[in-house]
Amino acid sequence: MKDELLNNLLTSDGISGYEENVAKIITNYLSSICDNVVIDNLGNVIGKIGTGKKKIMIISHMDEIGMVVKYIDKNGYIYFIKIGGIDDSVLPGKMVKIINKKGEHVTGIIGTIPPHLAKDEKNNKSIKYTDMFIDIGIPSKTNVLKIIDIGDQIIFEPMAGILNGSFYYGKAVDNRIGCYTMIKIMEKLKKNKDLSSEIYACATVQEEIGLKGAKTSSFKLNPDFVLVIDTTISGDIPRIEEKTSILKLGKGTNITMIEASGRGIIVNQKIHKLMVNIAYKNKIPYQIDIINAGITDGAITYINRNGILTGILSIPVRYIHAPISVFNINDVNSTISLGTKIIEKIIKNNVVF
Ligand SMILES: [Zn+2]
Repeated sequence: MKDELLNNLLTSDGISGYEENVAKIITNYLSSICDNVVIDNLGNVIGKIGTGKKKIMIISHMDEIGMVVKYIDKNGYIYFIKIGGIDDSVLPGKMVKIINKKGEHVTGIIGTIPPHLAKDEKNNKSIKYTDMFIDIGIPSKTNVLKIIDIGDQIIFEPMAGILNGSFYYGKAVDNRIGCYTMIKIMEKLKKNKDLSSEIYACATVQEEIGLKGAKTSSFKLNPDFVLVIDTTISGDIPRIEEKTSILKLGKGTNITMIEASGRGIIVNQKIHKLMVNIAYKNKIPYQIDIINAGITDGAITYINRNGILTGILSIPVRYIHAPISVFNINDVNSTISLGTKIIEKIIKNNVVF
């Protein structure tokens, strides 16, 4: 993949609570755009451009789902806990990297029982993650402990590339493509000569396990408006009916209205209308669906303090929360265009909700 930033974000490690390395990449890029960049107590990366009365905040979570080393048996097999929503059925046979205290990536394979032996057993597919183990080719607990500790993070094999044309694949697509989008929006806004506002880009920690970084950072900054950028479930694959998700890759960004039947955010109607109007007027491809699953950082920002006005753009993704997901770069680009226009409109026209 030619785009270095996108490639680095997709292949970097950073499960919830272990975001240090991906935070470094984002800090480096934001430093070349922003007036200042800080990392707060929880680990959120916050970059700022512009001055003025209004405060706008873009939020994109940088953590990914993954695993953590829990136990090593006497034969050197490694057991783990899951961090974030991972279906056990995607795990067997997958390659992973265990990242040790020195930052070295140790290759491992999540073991499976061969079908020859599993045939007569109940069903190898229904095996729980607690019974799965990682094989790193070292058949002794003592020797494994020389390179790996209890508590080390485990990520899926880092990879990123172009599947075909505008269809891309990668690890940690949720939500590194959101981080990429946020950085690109900041780049565009930086060129705007009459910002007259403070604009913050915040790469949040620990979204996958409870929207935690968004809670503390939006409380501290207390912005007038938050734009959350995340990923969502694309429905254009076999076994997902159109009535479940109408979203398709390549058809544009999704302007979120309601998350998870209202368990997540219900976006302020005026904000939603404004976002749709801006997309329509600027001929930016967009889609709208109400999917009964998944929530974003917006679910916590809109009820933080006395209610922070929040809008959400979500990029459709196939195989979300699997070791590799597929997305369309055109949807990333329409999210960049629309995100930039929304913020410019809110600043310029003095939109007050
Ligand atoms: Zn996400």
